[in-house]
Amino acid sequence: MSTTASINSWCLTSTSPSAQSSTSSLRRRPTLRPSIVANLNSSPSPPTLIRNHPVFAAPTPLLNPSNWREDMGDKSYEEAIEALKKLLSEKGELKAVAAAKVDRVTAELKTTSAGGKPSDSVERLKEGFIYFKREKYEKNPALYAELAKGQSPKYMIVACSDSRVCPSHVLDIQPGEAFVVRNVANMVPPYDQIKYSGIGAAIEYAVLHLKVQEIVVIGHSACGGIKGLMSFPYDGTTSTDFIEDWVKIGKPAKAKVLAENRGEPMGVQCTYCEKEAVNVSLGNLLSYPFVRDGLVKKTLALKGGYYDFIKGSFELWSLQFELSTPLSVKDVATILHWKL
Ligand SMILES: [Zn+2]
Repeated sequence: MSTTASINSWCLTSTSPSAQSSTSSLRRRPTLRPSIVANLNSSPSPPTLIRNHPVFAAPTPLLNPSNWREDMGDKSYEEAIEALKKLLSEKGELKAVAAAKVDRVTAELKTTSAGGKPSDSVERLKEGFIYFKREKYEKNPALYAELAKGQSPKYMIVACSDSRVCPSHVLDIQPGEAFVVRNVANMVPPYDQIKYSGIGAAIEYAVLHLKVQEIVVIGHSACGGIKGLMSFPYDGTTSTDFIEDWVKIGKPAKAKVLAENRGEPMGVQCTYCEKEAVNVSLGNLLSYPFVRDGLVKKTLALKGGYYDFIKGSFELWSLQFELSTPLSVKDVATILHWKL
């Protein structure tokens, strides 16, 4: 069964997972079929920043964690290889062919089990969960029993969606420690109940309900969103559906960088803007009434951070600001700079 929906001339075709095999041996590589395909043919001219090829998602078979076993990791691969060797070795006349086949299958299985490039996306996710379950979940029963009751994170972190800057990895944040929002260029927009309800809801929940003690906005090196902000002309023309409108939240940072560093190369300007945009976001946080209340009562603090994955360094700073009218960012003081 399939359904088709057309949104703004972009065609999405969805195929019911039930029509596809959902039960198969975990030893057999699942046949991947795209269940959602973005058909770009109906669009006269795709935005220039969007890759012009179909997007695939939700491959089959459907994952059923109850069918997974922790010992289905390397052990099952070893068993499969041994069985294959035995089978092929019984056919002496095919010895050379068999050896080549064993080598190929072994190499393929090793790439998945050794954490290299996975043979397919489902196997990668399955093995990732098995590793987490075995090495973390089951080795920290007290922590996960506590987290099962609820969460009380100390931090709210706003970080970029960039795949290289996951705060859980970069700062060794453990489950339960941080309420995290990630978006393009780690932006916090100004308070707007209509336009920015998504991140507004996250900030409200973190501050009023979870009562986080600190909000940390973290920028990073080589940020594509900031490069876009610095590159887009904002002259009335647009080349993206969402990106330009989203990253323009950081336009005050762009203006400041261009005013103070106009002669610098684009790369240098981007680096400045990556940090300055964090300050704009920290300033925007002051437009949320519950954030201001927390600052006045000193139950909440704001910090800026910058992770440079080229230099391997991390900066953390606090913002000194006045809460008198008009609200203004008065000074920025770098308090820590870690490069180990
Ligand atoms: Zn980024």
